[in-house]
Amino acid sequence: MRLKLVIIFMSFLFVQEVAASSAAIIWKKKGKKEEKVEVKKETPYEKFFKGKKCETVKGLIILHKMDNKIYFELPLSLLGKDMLIGSTVTEITNNGFANVGEKPHEPMHVMFTRTDSTINLRQVTCAYMSKDRNLQERIKTSMMPAIIENLAIKAYSPDSTAVVIDMTNFLLSDNEQLNPFSAYAPVTWSGAWIEKEFKRNNSQIAKIKAFDDNVSVQSSLTYSVSLRDKRSYYWYKEPFTAVMTRTFLLLPEEPMRPRLADPRINIFWQGYSEFSNEGNGMKPLYYANRWRLEPKDEAAYRRGELVEPKKPIVFYIDNAFPEMWKPYMKYAVEVWQKAFENIGFKNAIIAKDFPTNDPEFDPDNLKYSCIRYSPSSVANAMGPSWTDPRTGEIINASVYVYHNVIKLVQDWRFLHTAAVDSDVRKVVLDDEIIGDCIRYVVSHEVGHCLALMHNMSASAAIPVDSLRSPSFTQKYGTTYSIMDYARNNYVAQPGDKEKGVRLTPPGTWVV
Ligand SMILES: [Zn+2]
Repeated sequence: MRLKLVIIFMSFLFVQEVAASSAAIIWKKKGKKEEKVEVKKETPYEKFFKGKKCETVKGLIILHKMDNKIYFELPLSLLGKDMLIGSTVTEITNNGFANVGEKPHEPMHVMFTRTDSTINLRQVTCAYMSKDRNLQERIKTSMMPAIIENLAIKAYSPDSTAVVIDMTNFLLSDNEQLNPFSAYAPVTWSGAWIEKEFKRNNSQIAKIKAFDDNVSVQSSLTYSVSLRDKRSYYWYKEPFTAVMTRTFLLLPEEPMRPRLADPRINIFWQGYSEFSNEGNGMKPLYYANRWRLEPKDEAAYRRGELVEPKKPIVFYIDNAFPEMWKPYMKYAVEVWQKAFENIGFKNAIIAKDFPTNDPEFDPDNLKYSCIRYSPSSVANAMGPSWTDPRTGEIINASVYVYHNVIKLVQDWRFLHTAAVDSDVRKVVLDDEIIGDCIRYVVSHEVGHCLALMHNMSASAAIPVDSLRSPSFTQKYGTTYSIMDYARNNYVAQPGDKEKGVRLTPPGTWVV
């Protein structure tokens, strides 16, 4: 019995062996002679894609879109590598929920690992750290990245360096960290809340793109949404679809050297807890969020010369903005070059139009920082940024300008200064005055994108009578910092403008 089992087992191994090889040799009779003919056997990889209409794009990961499913051909070299998944709104039924271009959630810090024939997608946390190797080892096992999706290996690539996994369930689902519903959706500002039901049958995979350091998959997600408060429904089970672009971005292999945040300076930061073996308890640790600016010419930089960075900060300006706004927006971005010149960099921050002839450009890709236009009744703008969770390196920052901010800034300018400035006693202000208001709003939001928080003490430090001084206001405007909630000069009195008192926030529009 045992012998029989062994024979069966051996023959099973043999069958497996043959199945694994991609070619078999058979002998065919040709006339009197027998001839060796090589018959190619299909590999599981070939079988997997055989006879199906498949769209394939190649980059960091090879993506295959097939039968409304999305397969990743994941290189094994990516296992254990830190990645970010960013989810950006590309199209939406109602922008009261989120803007086109908005990322409703923080990107997810993830990595792929393998356990036997399964690929695990894991969510990484790096809130705890230690310089001591032993402690770091125990932190690693105590903060193991949790599995958020298990993906069976469908096939190996022909050269066995990559595995094919089905990512459809992950990307066509109502994942709370990737869906279109932000906690700050304008429709909820009055205290109402959203109820939603995901409709998988009405959802689908849309465009796919692949580049050297990232890939993106668009998921068209359909819901039935209701908006309600305690008493009544404003909308009841309305159909709602959002196309979300999900970018899988490889984080830098060489993490940026972090800088400790200085509590005296209002900079956005990442918080960690540090364990040491030097007799201290657990200590809080804060890394400043900042862009990775490295000098192109290190020697010249060290000599104190102004040098260009290897990779400047680039903001792409939405081509949907009214033409009149655009030059003011460009100026609002590049005026920050002066700040970088003080730390030795020239042309460190640049504004560009959305490229029209670059097939790689995609404003919804996590790689590109943009200033986005939102046709919305909201009278505001914002400038969030997304960082490498390990170091605070800013990976992406974007400004959203809602259309009605133009109403807000004109109302302010009129209410604050019409008593002393006859030029603004109009329903619609002149282009140059509106442009200067836009310039101020965008410069402030770009400041947030550079990791600067608000500086409300700036205006509090100014004696009120200085706001009637021509020399003071010409130098500082209405506050020392553009990161203040700077307003126009409503302290000025009739006749002050003629004496040279400036009425607007810091910075000027210079042609
Ligand atoms: Zn602000």
